[in-house]
Amino acid sequence: MTLHGLPTGSARPPVSGRSLVAGVVGAPVRQSLSPVIHNGWLAACGIDGVYTPFGLHPDRFEAFVEGLRGGGVSGLNVTLPFKARALAVADTADAAATAAGAANLLLFRPDGSIEARNTDGLGLLAAFHSQAPDVDIQDAAIVILGAGGAARGALGALLSAGARRIAILNRTQASAHTLATLFGPRVEALPLDQAATAFADARILINASAAGLEGQDAPVLPLDRLPADAAVMDMVYQPLQTPLLRHAERLGLRTVDGLAMLIGQARPSFEAFFGRPAPDGDEARALALAQLTPP
Ligand code: NDP
Repeated sequence: MTLHGLPTGSARPPVSGRSLVAGVVGAPVRQSLSPVIHNGWLAACGIDGVYTPFGLHPDRFEAFVEGLRGGGVSGLNVTLPFKARALAVADTADAAATAAGAANLLLFRPDGSIEARNTDGLGLLAAFHSQAPDVDIQDAAIVILGAGGAARGALGALLSAGARRIAILNRTQASAHTLATLFGPRVEALPLDQAATAFADARILINASAAGLEGQDAPVLPLDRLPADAAVMDMVYQPLQTPLLRHAERLGLRTVDGLAMLIGQARPSFEAFFGRPAPDGDEARALALAQLTPP
């Protein structure tokens, strides 16, 4: 490793007046792995660009974004707590952002307009593709834990990929009902005490809640009721091996981790910012893992 965590032998030119600029905005942003992922890809591709963290006071989001219209920043990834406000501030939005009610990607166009996209759903599908490729979402019965922005983004992507039925279980049941009403007949809200029933024929279980995040309680769930060929995914990636994934592994179930989703959502962002696809391979994961588990 060298300066800024870039791989040695990096072909990236030094940052110059011509460098393309993108970044990630959040409050806080310190914990974000996006800078290490994107700067790693910039180095690997030899692109004259830089990807910067922008930590903001929560009140300053709109003023910050408005100030970038038509300027020199090609785009921003958006993380908590700004994703819904990112959609609101944009002039246009893609179908995924509209369905999710939130954007994780803003692009600043030369005409001064702002375009919102949501690549979290693509990231979720990419994570299954890379870590559980034989699990077919088409026609699957799926259980989602959580009813926040991440669950909403996942619902749109899973329904588009052909999921047969999706049950939402959430600590606050009213939010699960709101999502079920919004997304239509293939989606139902169930109380948490019906988890065992929902699990019985589920092909996929996804934790899209913050439960299991460092400092939060881990969910206690009857994973033994899942079919033996089910896959369990956790969007939480801090820690990477969440209590839910450890429990699933002990039962011999396949697992998909949140870092695979994070890298999956970063790929289309990188291409939108820098005009070239992110390189294939595991370098970004290795860089992110090194940041997650410092020596
Ligand atoms: P939101 O704040 O919008 O929603 C949080 C959800 O988690 C709500 O459903 C909330 O339930 C539930 N929740 C929070 N704490 C607990 C707890 N202790 N026990 C049970 N449920 C709880 O957040 P997001 O939807 O944006 O994000 C959810 C998680 O997904 C976060 O951990 C985030 O980091 C992760 N994420 C990961 C991504 C990736 O690329 N890997 C991408 C996007 C998100 P209630 O309604 O009752 O408050």
